[in-house]
Amino acid sequence: MGKQLRVLFVAPEGVPFAKTGGLADVVGTLPQALMEQGVAVKVLMPYYGAIKQGKMATAPVAENLEAPLPYPLNLAFDLLAPTSPDYPFYFVARDEFYERSQLYGTPRGDYFDNLERFAFFSAAVLPVCQALNFHPHVIHCHDWQSALVPVYLRNRWPGEEILAGTRTLLTIHNLAYQGLFPKDRYPLLGLDWSFFCIDGLEYYDQVNLLKGGILCADAINTVSPTYAQEIQTSEFGYGLDGVLRTRANALSGILNGVDYTEWSPETDPHIPAHFRPKNLKGKAEDKAALMAAFGLDPTRSQAPILAMISRLADQKGFDLVAQVLPQLMARDDVMVVILGTGEEKYHRWLEQEAPKYPGKLGVKIAFNNALAHLMEAGADMFLMPSLYEPCGLNQIYSLKYGTIPIVRATGGLKDTITQVHPKTGKGTGFLFEEYSAEAFLKAIHTALAAYENQKLWPKIVQNAMAQDFSWKVSARAYLDLYNRLV
Ligand code: ADP
Repeated sequence: MGKQLRVLFVAPEGVPFAKTGGLADVVGTLPQALMEQGVAVKVLMPYYGAIKQGKMATAPVAENLEAPLPYPLNLAFDLLAPTSPDYPFYFVARDEFYERSQLYGTPRGDYFDNLERFAFFSAAVLPVCQALNFHPHVIHCHDWQSALVPVYLRNRWPGEEILAGTRTLLTIHNLAYQGLFPKDRYPLLGLDWSFFCIDGLEYYDQVNLLKGGILCADAINTVSPTYAQEIQTSEFGYGLDGVLRTRANALSGILNGVDYTEWSPETDPHIPAHFRPKNLKGKAEDKAALMAAFGLDPTRSQAPILAMISRLADQKGFDLVAQVLPQLMARDDVMVVILGTGEEKYHRWLEQEAPKYPGKLGVKIAFNNALAHLMEAGADMFLMPSLYEPCGLNQIYSLKYGTIPIVRATGGLKDTITQVHPKTGKGTGFLFEEYSAEAFLKAIHTALAAYENQKLWPKIVQNAMAQDFSWKVSARAYLDLYNRLV
């Protein structure tokens, strides 16, 4: 093997091509940061409909490759890549599997054939490495969609030259999503039944892909140190805490970085006015634009805006938001804006709530990146009352835009936000411990009181904007981990 470290990312999403959450930001940014440190990185992703129809031109790299799935069939796929040399991405194209309106499912539920879709994607790794003549030192897998790769490496591909000596790292971005499927689908994976057992893919008589990855990967990590500890407890372990404890020596936490070329109020192309710590004038202009975008009452501009940008999922604490909303809306000095898509029950709830508080509550059920940027810039506070949070990115973006996070002290939220101390003026946000509406409301009230304190608030904003969570530090940590593996 040459001196340069070669890493293959196998990931179900990545910006700028396809995104449903923070995983995409990591996959879109970490490779670049690693390449800056001298690593050769390639990224493999499915060729979704959105990529096919997107603005970025792609071209075939290899046609009619075959992956030995679903067993006993060999199905063909094409390998594509962006024509722009700026992206080290490759796409597994098989329209029957990936040309859909969404990545994993609709608000109604997951696609029925997700096992085939992502097992096939994982099985494509070997033919792709052969076609590219790429011999990775490390295959870096992300979440359940690529968790079969370490399983195949150990059970189906041990004799393959191109992957000889290759080690695997599995990053868990969210333990709640495990890739669970009925047992009767197991045969299509092409694995021996002896591996459908308690020390293998079996999980209460179902197939659990993430479990297989946890057991077979050479190393496992999560996206914050606190979450790496939490998932080894029954409270946060989603049934896999026992399995994770058996791999405790191989498990670590590396905090996500963020891409400040995308998320900086000094250069953001999505906001009408730029601003920086020494001159915050632009933030007021952005607030006016945000109020207009959500139809908020312009006479209230002195009141703080509390923002939320989120997948509409139980994890994100919307039951707490629902409980505190009437009390917040009863106050004259608060406005709330919410942007999100996700579970249908939350769509319905938000659509019911919005008309009750005209000019004070703004709701958009959509995935809208430009609006997300405007919200970060124009809001005063950011709400993340998550039940659990592997890392969380929005609270980190918020810091840079001087939009003060109010967060539950869990996972990455705990690792990135420090509690404000009104006396010393230190701290970057407001944390609460107990998952309850009372504790959340108390933290909001404390933040609102701080907002009124004209000596304190500017200090908090300065503290927040001075934080640096750029990828450089995290990329170094990944590089150290790869080097330990090989
Ligand atoms: P998660 O990965 O659990 O969804 P994160 O906070 O780690 O949460 O990352 C969420 C990412 O997705 C952020 O970049 C956020 O701005 C973005 N995002 C989530 N929902 C929306 C939305 N409705 N519109 C635009 N961006 C969104």
